[in-house]
Amino acid sequence: MNITRAIINLKALQHNLKVLKKQAPNSKILAIIKANAYGHGMIEIAKNLTDIHGLGVARFNEALVLRHAHIKTPIVLLEGFFAKENLPLLVQHDLQTVIHSEEQVQDLISATLDKPLTIWLKLDVGMHRLGFHAHQFKKMYQLLKHSKNVKLPINLICHFNCADELDNPITEKQIQLFKVQIQEDSGLNSLASSAATLAWPTSHADMIRPGIALYGISPFADKEAEEFSLQPVMTLKSRLIAVREHKKGEAVGYGANWVAPQDTKLGVVAVGYGDGYPRMAPEGTPILVNGRIVPLVGRVSMDMLTVDLGLDCTDKVGDDVTLWGEGLSATRVSKHMGTVAYELITKLTARVELQYL
Ligand SMILES: *Cc1c(COP(=O)(O)O)cnc(C)c1O
Repeated sequence: MNITRAIINLKALQHNLKVLKKQAPNSKILAIIKANAYGHGMIEIAKNLTDIHGLGVARFNEALVLRHAHIKTPIVLLEGFFAKENLPLLVQHDLQTVIHSEEQVQDLISATLDKPLTIWLKLDVGMHRLGFHAHQFKKMYQLLKHSKNVKLPINLICHFNCADELDNPITEKQIQLFKVQIQEDSGLNSLASSAATLAWPTSHADMIRPGIALYGISPFADKEAEEFSLQPVMTLKSRLIAVREHKKGEAVGYGANWVAPQDTKLGVVAVGYGDGYPRMAPEGTPILVNGRIVPLVGRVSMDMLTVDLGLDCTDKVGDDVTLWGEGLSATRVSKHMGTVAYELITKLTARVELQYL
């Protein structure tokens, strides 16, 4: 049994899926499970997401892992394919692909394939990362429509860059940009990831693409998941491996950069950057010990970190410690570290055991 583990609550996953369905009752769901299902274990999560319409991954190798695990759900490659040689494998493994560049269009229409591929043609509505500009879109659509390698109808997709900013009017404008590109013979339309699913109902269309919200985390920096009745799926836990008397004026950890302002007791927790707990976490980052929040003190090291338990504490070696999840949201923790919850949950290392509830 591993002392440092991420408890994955599959009931919470089902609950969040229900919440999202209620939010967008007329839309299909493409559940986003890229990056090892945001650290939650891609195969387990895929196996437990049965009541959905498709799975979204970023890379071809992620899709292969799923197919090798005998997962038969439709899969969409969100970044498309990167090499023409892979196209027959997309056919063989029944993978759908986003098409976002002229190189991909050329490779696809010039390939020799046994069967046509289901594609999602991507419009760039303002992220300026992937996708065709509005002025190229129709031309690409026509080229693809007349290719024997493209299964009709062609589906349409876009991705917002500011949907998590609730009072930014740009998202409505981007929705309009997308809507004027819908062709009379095009297929499904998909615009919304978690933020747009929760905040921009006019973007729901045929298929929503939630990632972070499925895992019970708010896509908004200034709103907690509870406001949307989402429940955290991952709880990162470890234990106290030492409780030590610590005198006023004594330092702790590498660099001796925290010095106790008064006599206290310090707890040593078996988690560090070797597990994916960020080294940049500053003094005061909240950590949950026996139902109360205590501050991180001293530098996070590879295998341990230290917390200030207070002079009168009754905590003892072996007690459970929660780094984030149930009782302490990853959103709250991430703010202290100057990052987002997405990064925390995605960066756990292989040393952390995933335990499914
Ligand atoms: C990652 C991703 C999503 C999911 O985003 P969340 O903010 O996690 O919901 C949706 N669509 C695309 C294209 C993505 O890359």
